[in-house]
Amino acid sequence: MTGANDTPLFSKEAGPPLPRNIATGSGEISVACNVCGASEERLIAVQNSYRVVACAQCGFVYVNPRPDEKTLAGLYLSYLPDKMEDPESWQDYMKTVFSNAAAEIARRAPKGGSVLDIGCGYGFFLDEMRERGFAASGMDVSKTAVGYAAKRGFDVRLGTLDTVALADGSFDVVTMFYVLEHIPDPLKALLQVKRILRPGGFLLLRLPHTTPIVKALSVLGINNNLYDPPFHLNDFSAASIKTLLQKAGFTGAHTFIGGVTRPPEDLKRAVTLGFGLIAEALYMLSFGRIAMPGVAKNTTAYKPR
Ligand SMILES: [Zn+2]
Repeated sequence: MTGANDTPLFSKEAGPPLPRNIATGSGEISVACNVCGASEERLIAVQNSYRVVACAQCGFVYVNPRPDEKTLAGLYLSYLPDKMEDPESWQDYMKTVFSNAAAEIARRAPKGGSVLDIGCGYGFFLDEMRERGFAASGMDVSKTAVGYAAKRGFDVRLGTLDTVALADGSFDVVTMFYVLEHIPDPLKALLQVKRILRPGGFLLLRLPHTTPIVKALSVLGINNNLYDPPFHLNDFSAASIKTLLQKAGFTGAHTFIGGVTRPPEDLKRAVTLGFGLIAEALYMLSFGRIAMPGVAKNTTAYKPR
């Protein structure tokens, strides 16, 4: 998960790459803030030669400009197979987060309801929901992952919210683990999710929050590519995801930790998958002063009845 080039995640020596020439860059687009619509921005960092900016109005952090959707699709062809190389490591890594989320859903959604996991990967979260008596289905853009989940008896579809046809109001619960940070237009995605949820339906998102970590590392003079652009396009704080959910028409947005990922020692990219290790290291190094803001968290919300 080091991105499209070989830029290391951390470096004490090399400065950040120079900003690309926006005027002449092809296959790139500039966007306004997805949360509030403003277009004034300030530069936060340049990583993997992409500009990471904060909205001057609401503070939402995003990559701008970024590859257009066609260019992005090409970049992902080289990204996904690498990311999904080992099902067992992935399961170990996510186990606590998945079981905590499943328990939360079992408490808050009707027994035996239908769950759609968008970005389901190998389907390990679907296992958790099936064990709790839910009708679990999924969707993913990785052919390998969809094949693996389908072989284990899950109704899993290949594609995205834009390409897979789903009926209005057809799910009691939708989950998205580490998905919304990758999506070019998260507001549009949340509107699509609201459409396929039944009235009163429940949404659970899990999102990384990298900005506090990047700021802390910058104080220590450590360059990094933790935003992982252009694969991560958005960096949500608890405040920005709450505003976006409200804008999309969801109610009762609530953010909580929801467990910490536990990567095995040999999972080399673990550090970028959830930023949990860095957050833990910073927490220890700072004697607890740099704590929860940088940790990946869950946010839940409801579609109004
Ligand atoms: Zn904004």
